[in-house]
Amino acid sequence: MNKIQVLDKSFEVYLDATTIQTRVREMAKQISSDLKGERPLFLSILNGSFLFTADLIRNLTIDPEISFIKLASYKGMRSTGSITTAIGLEVDLAGRDVILLEDIVDTGNTLYQFLPHLQQQQPRSVRIATLLHKAEATVHPLVLDYVGFVIPNKFVVGYGLDYDGWGRQYDAIYQLSNP
Ligand code: 5GP
Repeated sequence: MNKIQVLDKSFEVYLDATTIQTRVREMAKQISSDLKGERPLFLSILNGSFLFTADLIRNLTIDPEISFIKLASYKGMRSTGSITTAIGLEVDLAGRDVILLEDIVDTGNTLYQFLPHLQQQQPRSVRIATLLHKAEATVHPLVLDYVGFVIPNKFVVGYGLDYDGWGRQYDAIYQLSNP
């Protein structure tokens, strides 16, 4: 399918299924080589990362532990900035090699706010693997250890990513069509 309609918007294919699978396999190979002999904890950030996580994990040659979290932002009672906490984080991170799995890093706000909370638990290392990176839109100095594709600053859906809850099921990634 080259074009899809999600709610009121039209999208066209940007990364087809084969391109995504090839790149995810490469990422898995790189991660497996970097963490050879270790048992890293993969923290998959829901909802968007579920397909990326499933495909990446199945291509690893190391033995991973996998946990799923949701990040929730809320305004602190006194502070003006928002606070990001993880829902569902039940594994003790102390001394662990953690690899965060994200579908897309856009401004970088979410991860930038969450990383200090993660560091409080004193993991041995924290790495970030993101399938997509809107590099032009990122305003925080995040170190992204594994990036699938650097993409332009245009809205995308498919392969786990949604538009208002719709469009996650596609095996390709679609970009908003120009009007
Ligand atoms: P950030 O905090 O880096 O600005 O945003 C990260 C989150 O915004 C992603 O996890 C994702 O939920 C959402 N997001 C950013 N850009 C897109 C996009 O192009 N498409 C979709 N579906 N979600 C996006």
